[in-house]
Amino acid sequence: MPATPHLIPSVIQGAASAIQSHAEEVSALDQAIGDGDHVVNLQRGLEALSQQAESLAALDWPAALQKIGMTLMASVGGASGSLYGTLFIAMGKAMKDREMNLANLAEAFGRGVEAMKARGKADRGEKTMLDVLIPVADVLKSAAEHAIAPGQLAEEVSRAAEAGMESTRDMLATKGRASFLGERAIGHVDAGARSSQLMISAIAEVVAESAW
Ligand code: ADP
Ligand code: MG
Repeated sequence: MPATPHLIPSVIQGAASAIQSHAEEVSALDQAIGDGDHVVNLQRGLEALSQQAESLAALDWPAALQKIGMTLMASVGGASGSLYGTLFIAMGKAMKDREMNLANLAEAFGRGVEAMKARGKADRGEKTMLDVLIPVADVLKSAAEHAIAPGQLAEEVSRAAEAGMESTRDMLATKGRASFLGERAIGHVDAGARSSQLMISAIAEVVAESAW
């Protein structure tokens, strides 16, 4: 992970194209057990971030993460907007006065996920994007404790994200709109879990390919 956020534009680009190329699929998932707006919500946020990409890259990590959070909060809307906003704002706070390295990133991401859990009053096992984000936070934490090659870390992160996304299929939803459906939500992957898995895998690949 470079000390400065110069890779932010390619991270945003990677996340945006992963969502773009799976837009119909994610839309269909949200139509099945939500209200169908999830992809449009995310695309609005990713477009806002794309427009800020160069100015974000000129900031230090705490300021860049804070600004990403504020932008997502203001542009995404829906449940996911305030939740992603909370994640990045908490990460920015956790990175204050710290250099960017795997250990600090792992801790900041863990704090961000904790803040998201508190904001949405949700935890693992409730058929949301937390079923992807929590296992990814765990992988980062354990990777920070062992020496691990960037390529291997990206693979482990992607594998955990995919298993977490897949695990939502057979869950009953207890948070968000899907919870209104009761057992009818069983058999469908959660749209927010799928979109977060797609973005995380794309970001892991971009970061692994960049110079650490
Ligand atoms: P909305 O549900 O308001 O239409 P979106 O469609 O943008 O918002 O996002 C829906 C996604 O947000 C869900 O698929 C789920 O993954 C996630 N989500 C909803 N509520 C929560 C919550 N309390 N905690 C974590 N994630 C949640
Ligand atoms: Mg929705």
